[in-house]
Amino acid sequence: MKNIKDRNIVIVGGARSGTAAAVLLASKGARVFITDIGAIPVHQKNILTHNEIPFEENGHTERARKADFAVVSPGVPDNAPLIRYFASNDIKVYSEIEAACWFSESPVYAVTGSNGKTTTTSWLNHMWKQAARPALVGGNIGTAVSELIPQTSPDATLILEVSSFQLDHIDTFRPKVAALLNITPDHLNRYQNKFEHYIASKMRIMKNQQPDDYLVFNYDDPVLKEQVAGIGVRPDGPQLLPFSLLDEVSRGAFIRGEEIILRLDGKDEPVAGVDEVGLRGNHNLGNSLAAAIMGRINEISLPAIRDSLMRFEGVEHRLEQVRIINGVRYINDSKATNVNAVWYALQSIKSPVVLILGGQDKGNDYKELSEQIKKKVHTLIAIGQAREVIRSQVSRDALYYHEADSLEEAVQLAHRKARKGEAVLLSPACASFDMFDDYEHRGKVFKQAVMAL
Ligand code: ADP
Repeated sequence: MKNIKDRNIVIVGGARSGTAAAVLLASKGARVFITDIGAIPVHQKNILTHNEIPFEENGHTERARKADFAVVSPGVPDNAPLIRYFASNDIKVYSEIEAACWFSESPVYAVTGSNGKTTTTSWLNHMWKQAARPALVGGNIGTAVSELIPQTSPDATLILEVSSFQLDHIDTFRPKVAALLNITPDHLNRYQNKFEHYIASKMRIMKNQQPDDYLVFNYDDPVLKEQVAGIGVRPDGPQLLPFSLLDEVSRGAFIRGEEIILRLDGKDEPVAGVDEVGLRGNHNLGNSLAAAIMGRINEISLPAIRDSLMRFEGVEHRLEQVRIINGVRYINDSKATNVNAVWYALQSIKSPVVLILGGQDKGNDYKELSEQIKKKVHTLIAIGQAREVIRSQVSRDALYYHEADSLEEAVQLAHRKARKGEAVLLSPACASFDMFDDYEHRGKVFKQAVMAL
């Protein structure tokens, strides 16, 4: 618990998490001021006015510089002039999770990784419900951490989805249990195009962990294996609990034959059959192992863990089955906004695929998908701004290549090309902002187009 009474705090960014942080920190006696380079949504402004918190929008004035320390929203990059000003004037900049967790009375279970954060966090939520354990869930998904803080208590677990941007500005943030699902290139535009900077950001999740804390990590991920072997094994560091689909780890979770095994305290505990897991694909099997370890650390019973692994139905827009028409499965994976997620989507589907790929390109290397496309995709349909790059990199890997001007057109084309027993998959590898408000909007348009067939 930190004493912030009468401290001058400037919060940069007045969206959901910034406003929530302002309300929390003001309630602890700080003098809070919010500044935003753009417009602050009306809803947030109402909250601020109601709580008598001063703010400015559409630019920063001198007042925005008068801070004992600052709290920055995840959307604000480090090279923003105001953040640079703070950096060069020795004014500390914290992320919202850092500041919020100063006041948490709950143990924190934090999930990060390039892909699978929302799925795994939601899985934990499901598991805690299944076991009738109190949980507060939020962070990068749903509710901002600051909003959850007033309800925290030692009995309730604070389960957080944590992004690399939130980790960039932590100081004392110390999860009781942290999970690192994978690290593959993403968001490199925010990290001077340097993968190692992005890796360093993700690894910060364990920075303050102590020997009675736990780090759950993906032992099959080459980057993580190397990182944890290096900086992970510090004498005062957390207990390491790897999970693997390939190796029997000495402590953690793994697959033996067709069974998921937990090995936390020396003895092997069979949890469920691999085929019983509710979500398809090896990536989800990995996510389920991470969730199972975290549940077991919380002393959730094996039957409740098993139940949750079997019953969890996944999250909308993540390999979500929309409909089967004439034996063709239509799958919405709109949240696949990087190449790695598409790779796993294709890997999880056993039948031939018509793939809809594209959107706003993020400097992707689509050639990483070549092998999978050659093996599985007979018709590749490209949409959005990324069409040209997709055409030049992978159009020859599929038997047929088409381009469509809209997602609706792509769906109709896919409908004509797919045969019984096959799948039509929207898994774009791209951001959505060239054609849609966000990935959710894109997923909804896809589903509507499929329902209209
Ligand atoms: P995040 O919150 O990290 O963006 P999501 O759970 O929303 O992750 O999933 C994003 C995309 O990544 C979806 O297409 C999903 O199918 C895929 N995915 C989920 N888990 C993994 C994983 N462990 N490895 C690779 N891809 C994954």
